[in-house]
This record gives sequence, structure tokens and C-alpha cells, in this order.
Amino acid sequence: TNPKQICIIGSGNWGSAIAKIVGGNAARLKHLDDRVTMYVYEEMIEGKKLTEIINETHENVKYLPNHKLPTNVVAIPEVVDAAKDADVLIFVVPHQFIRTLCSTLLGKIKPNAIALSLIKGFDRAEGGGIDLISHIITRHLKIPCSVLMGANLANEVADEMFCETTIGCKDATAGPLLRDIIQTNYFRVVVVDDEDTVEVCGALKNIVACGAGFVDGLGLGDNTKAAVIRLGLMEMVKFVDVFYPGGKLSTFFESCGVADLITTCYGGRNRKVSEAFVKTGKSIKQLEDEMLNGQKLQGPYTADEVNYMLKNKNMEEKFPLFTAIHKICTGQLTPKDFIDCIRNHPEHM
Ligand code: NAD
Ligand code: 13P
Ligand code: CA
Repeated sequence: TNPKQICIIGSGNWGSAIAKIVGGNAARLKHLDDRVTMYVYEEMIEGKKLTEIINETHENVKYLPNHKLPTNVVAIPEVVDAAKDADVLIFVVPHQFIRTLCSTLLGKIKPNAIALSLIKGFDRAEGGGIDLISHIITRHLKIPCSVLMGANLANEVADEMFCETTIGCKDATAGPLLRDIIQTNYFRVVVVDDEDTVEVCGALKNIVACGAGFVDGLGLGDNTKAAVIRLGLMEMVKFVDVFYPGGKLSTFFESCGVADLITTCYGGRNRKVSEAFVKTGKSIKQLEDEMLNGQKLQGPYTADEVNYMLKNKNMEEKFPLFTAIHKICTGQLTPKDFIDCIRNHPEHM
């Protein structure tokens, strides 16, 4: 059989860090084609195209500066060109862009390709609910989609500091292939079959991270932050219980669960911007633009999507932490109301 061709769709902070890993494995392993394509949303950097900069210097100077990408990773500005010959499509764009990309790719990819989504977030579904990103990919492109989520701050992964990650994959042949593509001696993969829970954990922890940022901005201490993390975890468990029945509690003990929750509540962008939101009084949108240099926040949008569903189902008060965070991000409550919203959490009754 021919070596598998891999395409990475996305080239932000995490997209670039994973390209470093995938490029290295593709070059090293015989059953993976050396050439890895990477779809890069084109932009001009000091008068020069980002794709050209990446292909000449092998560095994504905007989203992952000071790290070299392997030379076999090729930046391509057209997503169809990047994806059309791929056997494995790795999706790693901020979730707000997934639908447009899927409609562009429809009918233009190999029919037997498989997908892996690294995207943390939900999208709004018709009828008042939400969709998992992997389900959107499968429904639009008619290919199976596994997920990868974990305690993986991109800059630390790019620095090759040890961490773990979780792949959610139900298919016994795809699982080992995906692990080969991703695993290195510093990036350890555990494959579980509980796909939906893995993905829900990755999306929801970004909401909790906003709460952790509020706590930091309010000058409350580590105990308060730990309480927010714990209540957030309990709401994550409840969310899976109510909306994705059949999910396993053990999945929360994988890297995608507790570990990602902790690292994001201490070191993530959602935490950082939420702290500044409390301290400056500026809007989240303005701070995202000012502080992240083009990188995107997922937490406030995910809180909005979750709230859209909870409100429609009349379940806001069953998830007081998620609800309060959404209301604070959107100005319906002030940050100093936060603790009052969780003081009488159902977990305390
Ligand atoms: P990012 O936050 O760096 O986002 C910027 C990317 O969005 C850039 O590649 C930019 O070109 C692209 N972009 C901007 N406008 C676009 C458009 N109109 N269409 C398509 N692309 C556009 O991205 P990231 O950090 O790679 O995050 C991608 C996903 O990975 C997110 O769901 C995130 O939650 C998740 N994730 C991120 C990290 C991390 O530490 N950065 C870690 C794990 C998971
Ligand atoms: P932030 O998007 O808050 O930086 O979180 C990154 C992440 O998902 C780490 O696993
Ligand atoms: Ca190879």
C-alpha cells in the first residue's frame, strides 16, 4: 500500500506546533508520506505572504515564532489544493471557521479519507441545540472524524516539554495510525473509544478557564480558583451525563479531562484575557484583538453556544457556573457577581 498522505488544515498557534510533530513523524516513518501539506489562511506580513515566509524560512513567524517547522511541511494557501490528495485530514482551525472550510472541501477530497479534529469548541445547531465539530465534519464531508484533545498549551509542546494527549477514536485500524502520526517521545498519546466525551471535555474546559481568569482578575486566591475548577469539572461531568449519555467517567481522568482543565486554567489564553477583562473593563473582543496578535479565543464563544442550548432547554440554573461566565462575558452580569452565582451551587445542596 502507498504511504499515507497527511494534510493539516490550519496553521495557527496549535496548528503550527502539531505540524512540527506530524512533519517529523511523516519524515521518520515509512508508512507515512514524507510530504505533509498545511493549509495556511493567507495574510501579508510586512509586505510578504505568510505561505512564502513559511516555505522559505520554515517558521510561522506570526503564530509560532522561534520554532522551525520540518522542511517537508509545505504551506499552501488554497485548502482544496492542500487537502485533495490526503488520506488523513487533521483539522486545527478556530471553530468559527469550520463550516466555511467544510463547504469549500465538499466533493473535493478522497472519499475514503479519514479526519482527526483538534478543534476545541461547539457550533450552534438548528432547533436550539449544539453540534460537536467532529460531527459537523463527518456530516458535511461524509468521512469519519476522530478527535485529539489534551493538556497541550501549544508553545510548551513546541518547546518539546513532556505532556500527554488523548485521541478519541472508535475505529480499531484508524486509532493506531493516528497515534503513529501524533506520538513522539515527549508527546504521549492514549487512545480511548469515548470520542464524544473527549471532545466535550476539550470544548467545555475553555469556559471554565474564563472563570479562572475572573478569579485571578478579582484578586481571589488559589482556593477560590480550585473551587471554580472543581465546580467546572462537576458541570462538565453533568453536561456529558445529560446531553451525551453513555460517556464514561474514566475519560475525565485522561489528559483531555482534568489535565487540560488545569493547564488551561493556569496557562491558557482564555484565562489571560479573562483576567484582563476584569482588570481593564475593556470588552473581550477588544482584548482578543489587542493581546493575542491574531490568535483566537474559544471560551467566550463556547459559553455563548452552550448558553443558547441551556436557555432553550430551560436548564440554565442546572449549570450556574457556565451560565454566570456567559453572562459576565456578555455584560449581563459584572465580574464581581461571579462568586455570588456559584455560592449556592447545586453541588453544595
Ligand atoms: P489560533 O488561535 O492561533 O488562531 C489563528 C488561526 O486562525 C490562524 O492560523 C489564522 O490564519 C486563522 N484564521 C483567521 N481567520 C481565518 C479565516 N477567516 N478562515 C480560516 N482561518 C482563519 O489557532 P490555534 O491555536 O491553532 O487553535 C486552533 C484550535 O486548536 C482551537 O480550537 C483551539 O482551541 C485548539 N487548541 C489550541 C491550543 C493552543 O495552545 N493554541 C492547544 C490545544 C488546542
Ligand atoms: P487556550 O485556548 O485557553 O490557550 O487553551 C489552550 C489549550 O487548549 C491547551 O490544551
Ligand atoms: Ca515517510
